[in-house]
Amino acid sequence: MVSAPSGTGKTTLCNKAIEALPSLFSSVSYTTRQPRPGEIPDRHYSFIDQDEFRAMIDDGEFIEWAEVHGNFYGTSKSRIEAIIGRGNDVILDIDVQGARKIREHYPESILTFILPPSMEVLEKRLFDRRSDSLEVIARRLKKAREEINEYKYYDYVIVNDLLEEAFAAFSAIITAECNSINNMDHDWIREHFLKEE
Ligand code: 5GP
Repeated sequence: MVSAPSGTGKTTLCNKAIEALPSLFSSVSYTTRQPRPGEIPDRHYSFIDQDEFRAMIDDGEFIEWAEVHGNFYGTSKSRIEAIIGRGNDVILDIDVQGARKIREHYPESILTFILPPSMEVLEKRLFDRRSDSLEVIARRLKKAREEINEYKYYDYVIVNDLLEEAFAAFSAIITAECNSINNMDHDWIREHFLKEE
């Protein structure tokens, strides 16, 4: 799972990782926020209204859901299970409260936190994005400070200054975790290497 204040470049990092690693898939979240220019429904998010979102909560369709910046976001249980069921790994771009709830469901999940090079750079990136009003940017910066305060609950922290360097660090984390003893398929090792002739 990847969390970071908005404007930190985590979506770019996640997309690069998905392109580079064939067994890594993102689970598309549901949200009540309006699509931004260029966002494709059911690819970036599934955009639904508040009544639909509430109905999904009532039907128990979310592993977790949260209100972020005045909009609702939820992680679909069936979408995650479908990816895992095919033997693949899931990457989630999720806020800090959501990441902690997912870890309760999936204790083996790995949490990576992305930091901007500085708060000044973050402010500039949010401003240059030109998709949010000044009021929204101020709200996002305040939220960013609260989120960064949670970094110690994460397994890894990456400062995203130069995208290529941040991506190299992120790839290294994913590769290391895929090869970790905690994630080994012990049955496969037993079957292939430890069976007596
Ligand atoms: P944005 O609207 O900028 O795409 O996302 C705002 C925040 O919502 C980000 O911190 C993002 O990680 C978080 N977010 C996106 N999807 C989910 C989700 O399914 N659950 C939770 N809890 N947060 C999410």
